[in-house]
Amino acid sequence: MADANVFTDAIKRLDTAAAYSKAHAETIERLRQPKQHLQVTFPVRMDDGSERMFTGFRCRYDDTRGPGKGGIRFHPGVTGDEVKALAFWMTIKCAVANIPFGGGKGGVIVNPKELSQCELERLSRGFMRAIADVVAPDIDVPAPDVYTNPTVMAWMMEEYSTIVGKSSPGVITGKPIALGGSLGRGDATARGGFYQIKELERIQGWDRSRTTVAVHGFGNAGQFFAQLAADDGYKVVAVCDSRGGVYDPNGLDVATLIETKNSTRRVAGQGIEISGDDLLGLDVDLLVPAALENTISSENQADVKAKVILELANGPLTNEADAELNTRGVVTIPDILANSGGVTVSYFEWTQNKAGYSWTLEEVHQRLKDKMSSEFCTIWDFAQTKSIDMRTAAYAIGLDRLAEAHEATGTAKIFANT
Ligand code: GLU
Repeated sequence: MADANVFTDAIKRLDTAAAYSKAHAETIERLRQPKQHLQVTFPVRMDDGSERMFTGFRCRYDDTRGPGKGGIRFHPGVTGDEVKALAFWMTIKCAVANIPFGGGKGGVIVNPKELSQCELERLSRGFMRAIADVVAPDIDVPAPDVYTNPTVMAWMMEEYSTIVGKSSPGVITGKPIALGGSLGRGDATARGGFYQIKELERIQGWDRSRTTVAVHGFGNAGQFFAQLAADDGYKVVAVCDSRGGVYDPNGLDVATLIETKNSTRRVAGQGIEISGDDLLGLDVDLLVPAALENTISSENQADVKAKVILELANGPLTNEADAELNTRGVVTIPDILANSGGVTVSYFEWTQNKAGYSWTLEEVHQRLKDKMSSEFCTIWDFAQTKSIDMRTAAYAIGLDRLAEAHEATGTAKIFANT
């Protein structure tokens, strides 16, 4: 998952986008390194009585526009550089979504599938104890990410509240509804991407019944996106998870596939069986990478035949693959825009926690739709006007918003003459 250069590669985007942004060089310079990057090692008592040490990270990349914000992942491939890259992306993502947060991210090196539920609870609480000094509702606010879920958020919130001696729902988002979670957070990442696809459908005049979709990754984001697209009349022809997938050119029954996946842990039982690599090379209109970083690299980008890519995963295209696909005219809706629905509803959740008042599902959906549609159109229009790809446009607009906040306290421009 995490190649050694994931952070260095991520940072290179700053230089590409700087040419189209009004950001002062000092703003760009600030964003080359995280504000804070903590590595922790903590013990967990296993079910067999033994103690095992785990390593984790929490990075608060930048908090100029508001508290750090970003998920926590549990994955064996987590590295410090990967967490820094993900926290950098969160910084730009929150600026692109125009929500009052900076960027953060956390991760623990662990394969949660090998732990019992009791071990997972002890790991979640142990990690929260280890990072409790650097998170808080107004400092840095975690959320779910790869292989973490509302139950993990509940354990962490409870642990934090015990440490600080008061109920603190605003320390973490993506919680169960009964503990201060927001309605609509569960499918928010997919729904945010779906609302953006609806804008593109309108702009390009797509016929949904003839528009084919392949979804690579069948976790939270992939499942909800496939379901939303199928319910709307799109032809979802292929889905896969890390163990393989299925393809049917006439369209899949997504609801049944989700049931099968959740009861047997496999994507199977319909169409023909295909591998994840086969799926990436299918001749579809819309390809949705919804798994991990670096799924499409210079090695397999030539196989991609899709006309549009919606990056529901973070960093699914390497810089090289992205450049090649751009040259071939593929439209990529970049992660920092495409999957920003998740953090946007996290912001709604945090706002509701602060106010002590909950919104209806309709309110959440409407506000998410308004935000996703307008940010999509802002970036689409900027990309068209400048004849650049949507990723560069999104970075440029995100940088402009970060710069406005940085520069509000002054740059060399105002201090040079004093
Ligand atoms: N992990 C999600 C992301 O990468 C959500 C973060 C959040 O809600 O804070 O955007």
